[in-house]
Amino acid sequence: MKKILFTLLFLFAAVAYGQDKVVKTVLELGRTDNRTMQHADYIARNIGGRLVGTHMLNHAEDWVAQQFRSWGFEVIVQEAVEIGIGFDRGPWSGRMLSEDGMTLHFGTPAYTAGTRGPQKGRALLEPKTQNEFDRVKGALKGAWVLLETGPESGLAIDATAKADSLRAAQLAQGEKASVPMYRQMVEAGVLGFIRPSKLPMQVLYNRAACFELTMDTLPTACDILLDEHQFGTIKQKVADRQEVILEFDIRNHFFPGPMKHHNILAVLRGSKYPDEYVMMGSHLDAYDIATGSTDDGQGVCVTMEAARLLAASGAKPKRSIMFCIWTGEEYGLLGSKYFVEHKTVPWDKISNYFNRDGGPLAAVSVTVPPAMYDDFVEVCKPLFDYNPEIPFTVNRRDGEAPARPTTAGGSDHAYFSMNGIPVISFRESDIFGHDFIYRDIWHTEDDLYDKLIPEYLEHSAVVQAVTAYGLANLDHLLSRNGLYKD
Ligand SMILES: [Zn+2]
Repeated sequence: MKKILFTLLFLFAAVAYGQDKVVKTVLELGRTDNRTMQHADYIARNIGGRLVGTHMLNHAEDWVAQQFRSWGFEVIVQEAVEIGIGFDRGPWSGRMLSEDGMTLHFGTPAYTAGTRGPQKGRALLEPKTQNEFDRVKGALKGAWVLLETGPESGLAIDATAKADSLRAAQLAQGEKASVPMYRQMVEAGVLGFIRPSKLPMQVLYNRAACFELTMDTLPTACDILLDEHQFGTIKQKVADRQEVILEFDIRNHFFPGPMKHHNILAVLRGSKYPDEYVMMGSHLDAYDIATGSTDDGQGVCVTMEAARLLAASGAKPKRSIMFCIWTGEEYGLLGSKYFVEHKTVPWDKISNYFNRDGGPLAAVSVTVPPAMYDDFVEVCKPLFDYNPEIPFTVNRRDGEAPARPTTAGGSDHAYFSMNGIPVISFRESDIFGHDFIYRDIWHTEDDLYDKLIPEYLEHSAVVQAVTAYGLANLDHLLSRNGLYKD
């Protein structure tokens, strides 16, 4: 009996030592061989923008899956989004040809028309009433029209029948239309429309229409968002009745779909509770006026590196750890919604889902309900003094539990939390004062690799790896007591 006890004690000690050794190795590799920025380099500078409907997003999915497999993970490729048409971009450029000329700084929303090679035409002011339209209708053919009506913030011009009828109603009441006379101008043969854009430029898509587009209903006129300063200069010249010739070359290409996109789910299978999970994730799809480096390339890189660090450290957790690279977030959290609603993992088997989608900042703390506090303190201990310049803290939530969210917003944690699954996340901080402001990059042309802050991302990968591993080794799932009010 004594011998058995001794053997058992030895085994426990060996397991505890094994855990310690894994954590030690993660901490060590996190310092000496941290590859977060290598992943970022590939995603941001090799692949770039990753919009739903593009070959680039499929390429990114393949690359992520291949990386996980090369580190020894079991990989689930889950189809979650389908769009009827495909859309790829090549380079775009434009110039004002008159006088000294000017290189134009512009973008186009996704799923809008390109040009057939370089196309030259006169700039014209938008007609806003039927009389104005009749006065210029002969000149509209082959012209670029400067619009002051239309949506803001980088959305595409609404070309639906609904917009047509709204404008018709406004014109019938003798009001100036708040939506452009789109259909009439397209029928009159314009090359495209030009709208002013604030800087940094935001370029999105037509959320209402992109999933309904078919090869027979593709837009034909370009939808250009131009630097508002250049727009003002051109508009003034045209208002002064000077002739302004503009030339655009825009390689926006449609091709027949359907295009299918996937969640890439990497599993480190648990030894004792293989059907229970600690989860973390980020979204792979991104707007494509820039390279989606921050939103959410940085999240993907941190999630991937947390996985790689654990694999490289020989982690064999008791509970499974799942690393989720979601698709279709920018279109309404499509990938994570699909995952949760299809109960890919039963809701009561998820200990916590950690989401990372935001600035390229350092994970510095976690605030948890009282019932989770002791577990998090135990698990996060190795992080407290890992980097004395970025001290990590675990805080107990004060006061009442929040109500469970009933609407989906924000990011990929939403459908988890709406269904009562814990989504404790790390607080992220610009602790060294790199002057990062999310609004500067969010969905803009400035969401580029050079906005990433390596020391923060590398640190965060270690924090996520150590925390997930510790939670996966507890002998219980995290308590949901006091998580939400109900
Ligand atoms: Zn995002």
